Amino acid sequence: MRPPRFSAASSFHSDLKLRIKNYFTEKNLNQTGNFSLYFKAILLVCAYIATYVTLIFFTPHWAIALVGCVLLGALASTIGFNVMHDGAHGSFSKKNWVNELAGVSINFLGANVFMWKTKHNVVHHSFTNIDEVDDDMNARPFLRLCPNQKFHRIHKYQHKYFLFVYSLLYLYWIFVTDYKKYATKKVGIVPIQKMTVGDHLSFWGFKLLHIILFVAIPLYMLGFTPWLIGFLVYGISTGILLSVVFQLAHAVEEASFPMPNIETNKLEDDWAIHQLKTTSNFATNNKVLSWLVGGLNFQVEHHLFPNISHVHYPAISKIIKETCREYGIPYLEHPKLSMAFTSHVNHLRNLGNNQ
Ligand SMILES: [Zn+2]
Repeated sequence: MRPPRFSAASSFHSDLKLRIKNYFTEKNLNQTGNFSLYFKAILLVCAYIATYVTLIFFTPHWAIALVGCVLLGALASTIGFNVMHDGAHGSFSKKNWVNELAGVSINFLGANVFMWKTKHNVVHHSFTNIDEVDDDMNARPFLRLCPNQKFHRIHKYQHKYFLFVYSLLYLYWIFVTDYKKYATKKVGIVPIQKMTVGDHLSFWGFKLLHIILFVAIPLYMLGFTPWLIGFLVYGISTGILLSVVFQLAHAVEEASFPMPNIETNKLEDDWAIHQLKTTSNFATNNKVLSWLVGGLNFQVEHHLFPNISHVHYPAISKIIKETCREYGIPYLEHPKLSMAFTSHVNHLRNLGNNQ
């Protein structure tokens, strides 16, 4: 299979881009992050380092240490959502080096920004919800996330065990899939960019640093069993949080899973309309959640304008919603987090019934 092509851009997309451009011109705003985002980034990174140092060097009581490991996982996820994700998209700051630095935070957390940029910026953002291309929809054979994927009997229970699969995602990512991408030079069917000597050194250097920070030092300081339990609790918390937040935007009942025409390899819609049919917002009025997930609950805005910082999404969502209404194009959203979660479970249940 080759990556499919989209239909020619519609007037909807050009009109929407113009309206968003006019909004930033009229308000005299930059499209990148602002002071409150930078403050949040520093706060999250300091909280992460403080939690790590407390756990490793001050060996708190085991019950407190377990809570600390969950907190460390939650902080790793929020740094991913708020700092790394924006940095890798180039929307964190006007300054390129600041974006690079924000993006590199993923390397300290054990993954690799070079692989992420292909997996997320190129593959997921271009080919959202297209089976066999969008890597975010690939949890085969454990989960059936798209109607096009092969049904196995175990999927009948996937709406009950999906959190178990998600819990392993982060550990599998940093210890298996990153290396698979490196070795095959591909993310699924899409080739990664040619790696420079610096990229290779960065890949191995950061992987080694991660092993030193999260395996060697804690093993030396704490011993095998406390390290293993702590590291698993940390990895499981991170995996569940990352998976749930990303899946609630795409793997829900209302989202489409378009496939290209077999002969032409072309999709029915243009890129922008495709994004609107495959992406859903959730709980956008929940200010605490929006702060924590870095605008990933405004996924419609993010998928249409990934180069605009999430701090602007609440404002531009009004323009996008209005434009969709005028053009009769769906704008998918769940007002509450619980509704999005229920829709995700229903989606898994439906596909588990071979629907
Ligand atoms: Zn993104």
